[in-house]
Amino acid sequence: MTDIALPESLGYSLDQARARLRKALEDAERAQGTATLLAVSKTKPASLIRQAWQLGQREFGENYLQEALEKQTELADLDDIVWHFIGPLQSNKTRAVAENFDWVHSVERLKIAKRLSEQRPANLAPLNICLQVNISREASKSGVMPEEAIALAHDVAALPRLRLRGLMAIPAPAESFAAQRIPFAELRQLLTKLQAALPETQLDTLSMGMSDDLEAAISEGATLVRLGTAIFGARSNS
Ligand SMILES: *Cc1c(COP(=O)(O)O)cnc(C)c1O
Repeated sequence: MTDIALPESLGYSLDQARARLRKALEDAERAQGTATLLAVSKTKPASLIRQAWQLGQREFGENYLQEALEKQTELADLDDIVWHFIGPLQSNKTRAVAENFDWVHSVERLKIAKRLSEQRPANLAPLNICLQVNISREASKSGVMPEEAIALAHDVAALPRLRLRGLMAIPAPAESFAAQRIPFAELRQLLTKLQAALPETQLDTLSMGMSDDLEAAISEGATLVRLGTAIFGARSNS
């Protein structure tokens, strides 16, 4: 038998994901290191997160609060891990998110942002925030409408315990690379508008691109790509 890397192993898939990101940056004529790989670990056990950490991965994204808190407890010894909350966020969950995460990507209402700011513990750095934008204008989807994003950003940027960093979106699935690029380009243009409207705020983050559309997102300026399936494999219960 030949000794080949098993495609199902985490080391292999993480290497593949990193190679994909490097190639996408190269194809987009962007410098290496200008986009960060966020490993989306929802539904996956803490042991896999620890393994990914041992392979050098530091940024992890979680969608479900209770599940995330349990894994964080198990992984409390990994003190340089960076936790991103990327799922829908209700009022009754804001305190635990404010206390246990470094980033929230899914802010779409001022009420939620105010609670996160009030509840962010004084001994922690301000909570990094992305506004989620409903860039494809889907009736059933989360996110602020693009035309309302600037007003919301203005209010969120004024909250003392938050640090507004940029925008996040999950576009509707599209068939081709060209079609995938359109909503990502719109999000990039919206960030440019926001940067002009809020010159005092360091808006440096475009959280866009997942396992199926990473290349298109990178070609339109993504700085944080959120990969789940491509790193950890298919999810059974989502
Ligand atoms: C699940 C999820 C991802 C990862 O999706 P994959 O297609 O598995 O890469 C990224 N972003 C958000 C907000 C998610 O909920």
